[in-house]
Amino acid sequence: MVQKFKSLLLSFAAAAGFAFAGTDQVQAQTNDTTGISNLRADFSHTQTGRDLLGMLDVVGISVVFDSTIADAGECRDAAKQIAINPRIPESERSVVLAHETRHIYQRYGLRSGEWEETAITPSQFFSLRHYQEADAFAFGAFFWAERMHELGQNPDSIRIKSLSSTFAIAKDLLQEMQGDGLTKDEYREKAFIRAFYDLNDLGYNERHYLLAGTRVPIMEQLAGEALGNPGSEFGQQMLEVTHHYMSTMPDSAKFENYLRLFGGTSQDLSEATCLQTDSVSTKNLYLYPALALGPAALDRGTLDDLKALDERFLKTRRDIMALAARKAGP
Ligand SMILES: [Zn+2]
Repeated sequence: MVQKFKSLLLSFAAAAGFAFAGTDQVQAQTNDTTGISNLRADFSHTQTGRDLLGMLDVVGISVVFDSTIADAGECRDAAKQIAINPRIPESERSVVLAHETRHIYQRYGLRSGEWEETAITPSQFFSLRHYQEADAFAFGAFFWAERMHELGQNPDSIRIKSLSSTFAIAKDLLQEMQGDGLTKDEYREKAFIRAFYDLNDLGYNERHYLLAGTRVPIMEQLAGEALGNPGSEFGQQMLEVTHHYMSTMPDSAKFENYLRLFGGTSQDLSEATCLQTDSVSTKNLYLYPALALGPAALDRGTLDDLKALDERFLKTRRDIMALAARKAGP
């Protein structure tokens, strides 16, 4: 009975993304869908495109078409695969690939998956996911602008079918590139922050609010078993699992510095991003994801809900750390 309940809890936890015991290794797929070669050839026309292709090859990412996905593209970590929706017009697919390749950089360069597995609070998780999406969104626009710039394309001659908000940002960035060059501050204002606003329309907030909260009831339940059965072997196992996880909580300065690695236009980790300047205060750093929730959410609604989830999460952490300390004895 206990065994069954325990395996149920652990499989529930695993489904929610908690890797308590080893992680699945999925064989890298190296076969692209036929037709992707055109897309790859297309990338070789610009500097950023060539950099991205190099990164895909180093990491071993294959690119496939998949008409069943709901979005324009999808980044599949475990399968080491980027899927492009073939319903996106051919002329816009390279921007989708640039956006998804930026997610590969986030995973392998910035190691965002490892951060998501630490005991960050629900609102930190929500912020981190929004930073990743805004970063990829803005980067797709940057790629597009640079492409128009390097290939001498006139944006007015380009007809957009599906990526209109990305294109609007790309046109603004192109104007800066054609003037005295695109600065980090301009990229932040015209692309990165604007991407947070655009996420508002994409059903992205709702999905990630739910995702951010998933770990709270799971941790409460696991911790409840540890606290309720302090003398049993099962209780001891639950304590070990939850204590191990809760001990991975990063301190807030470290998390803040990590967020500042987003908002770049290069795959070079040593190059400063648009957030690594004194003009972005800590307060603003945390405010950007709130922009995605809309002005009404800045002081009520979903932000309060996130805060309430944080409090439950932190209380569970305190209870587990206290129990572990009591067990360890004086
Ligand atoms: Zn994305």
